Amino acid sequence: MYYFDNSATTKIDKEVLDEMMPYLTEKFGNASTIYSLGIESRTAILNGREKVAKALGCSSKEIYFTSSGTESDNWALKGVAFANKDKGKHIITTAIEHHAILHTCEYLEKQGFEITYLPVKENGIIDIEVLKKEIREDTILISIMTANNEIGSIQPIAEIGKIAKEKGIYFHTDAVQAVGNMNIDVNESNIDLLSFSGHKINGPKGIGVLYIREGVNIDNLLHGGGQERRKRASTENVASIVGIGKAVEIATKNIGKKSEYLINLREKCIKGILDKIPDTIVNGDREKRLPGNVNVCFKYIEGESLLLHLDKLGICASSGSACTSGELNPSHVLLAIGLPHEIAHGSLRISIGKNNTEEEIDYILSVLPDIVQKLRDMSPLYIKNK
Ligand SMILES: *Cc1c(COP(=O)(O)O)cnc(C)c1O
Repeated sequence: MYYFDNSATTKIDKEVLDEMMPYLTEKFGNASTIYSLGIESRTAILNGREKVAKALGCSSKEIYFTSSGTESDNWALKGVAFANKDKGKHIITTAIEHHAILHTCEYLEKQGFEITYLPVKENGIIDIEVLKKEIREDTILISIMTANNEIGSIQPIAEIGKIAKEKGIYFHTDAVQAVGNMNIDVNESNIDLLSFSGHKINGPKGIGVLYIREGVNIDNLLHGGGQERRKRASTENVASIVGIGKAVEIATKNIGKKSEYLINLREKCIKGILDKIPDTIVNGDREKRLPGNVNVCFKYIEGESLLLHLDKLGICASSGSACTSGELNPSHVLLAIGLPHEIAHGSLRISIGKNNTEEEIDYILSVLPDIVQKLRDMSPLYIKNK
């Protein structure tokens, strides 16, 4: 199998699984109890929290474990919106956020909040001047992703954080794709809230983190027991907390070396595709881009049929995003960077991870041109344009 869908999910590291196993078996104590078995779980959670805090440059008191990146995004937006509605009802985000943000914003609009969806430039990056212009007296929150899951573009989060701080507006960033791929320091970038997820960084599924800067006014999403310092009820997922702690520790160690490795593979892949396949567009910024992200559009073909052909050869990749696959609408991200529908339909995302090798890139480059050509030969659009 050739796995090139690391932005959809990643394979769990063996070291991560090994550290989790005891907490899925004999160390099963509830962390809220007072006997030794429970204390062991409590200590494991503490350790996980410290590892996450170290990776983000914050205090472990500011780390809250959730069930996913989606829950962290929901909590940040709804929690801040509801807690601060007397100060204002305006939120700024972008048109290219993950659906965990966009659909939460749609829900908040129904609750009476006003959302501004910032456009992005052709390279998938916002214009800071437009952001400044959209800020209002009643803006309570700016939520802008660190890096995009489809086209890999990286936003100027330090600049955004600085502006938000000057204006006294909370700044949340969805860093699900960014953590482990680039250095993030919540204080340097003036980030008030940050989301990330275990399964995107070679950790387990079903665990996420929300960093909440001390003093941020935020409502609870889940009510119940007193877990997570009374902010997020439900019995802790101890094994996964241990797992995400280990995963983030591994992911942030040698980040420079790893990203250099991925950038090399990415550039080889992009160059190979452009050399071998005419009528191809590279989506997203060529420099300010996630190290492992390749996103291209092949004119005159359908991304979905391309994926099926790749699957027959054991290649896992994606078109649009995993969440939109199966829908007929082209990706909202590709439309936001200005691509017409028919071109956006022909997109392919190859997301390279640390387990991929140069030989695997050679393999995909050896099969892709023929598949694209075969599909083009069947396409009425291609024949008409030839
Ligand atoms: C995957 C992803 C999410 C959702 O995280 P889950 O843990 O899968 O719920 C949110 N935002 C971005 C940018 C993502 O890539």
